[in-house]
Amino acid sequence: MPAKIKHFPSHFWSRFKRAKNGCLEWQGCRWDNYGETGFEGRVRKTHVVAWILSRGAVPKGKCILHSCDNPPCGEPSHLFAGTKKDNNKDREMKGRGRYAAGEACSWSKLKWKDVSTIRDLYRTKKKNMYDLAKTYSVDPRLIWAIIHRKIWKVRHRGYHSRIEKLPKRCR
Ligand SMILES: [Zn+2]
Repeated sequence: MPAKIKHFPSHFWSRFKRAKNGCLEWQGCRWDNYGETGFEGRVRKTHVVAWILSRGAVPKGKCILHSCDNPPCGEPSHLFAGTKKDNNKDREMKGRGRYAAGEACSWSKLKWKDVSTIRDLYRTKKKNMYDLAKTYSVDPRLIWAIIHRKIWKVRHRGYHSRIEKLPKRCR
C-alpha cells in the first residue's frame, strides 16, 4: 500500500467539522452538496470514503445513504447501506429529486461510452427511449434523464474522471 493511502485516514477525518446537530460535515470541495475527494486514484464522495474507512467496502449493489439527510455528512453512525430503490424512495419522500452523478453508485450499470451511444441512437432516431431502456436493461426514466441531460452532464465530473483534474485542494 503506498504511503499516501496508508496515511490517508487521519488527513481525511481532519477535514470534517462537527456540526451542532451531530453531523460531521465535509469542509473541502463539494459537488451537488456532497463532499468529494480523491481516494485510491478516483474521485469519490466523502461519505462513501467515510463508510469505507470506518466499516469497509460498500456492499455489492448498495449505495451509501444518509439517515440524517445531510449530503456533506460523513459521520459513520449517520450512514447506512441501502439499495437503489431505497435511495429513490428516500429522495422522493424528502422531495429532493436529485440524481446521483454519473457512475457514482455501485449499481450504475452504464459507462460514459454507453451514455454517448444512447444519445446518438436517440438523436438519429434509430431507437426510442423504451428500446434503449430494454437494450441496456435500465429504467426508461434513466434513459429520459440521460437524453435530457439531467444526469451525466459533464464528463470531467464523472466518477471515473482523472484525479488530476480535481483542484489541488481536493486531492
Ligand atoms: Zn449526519
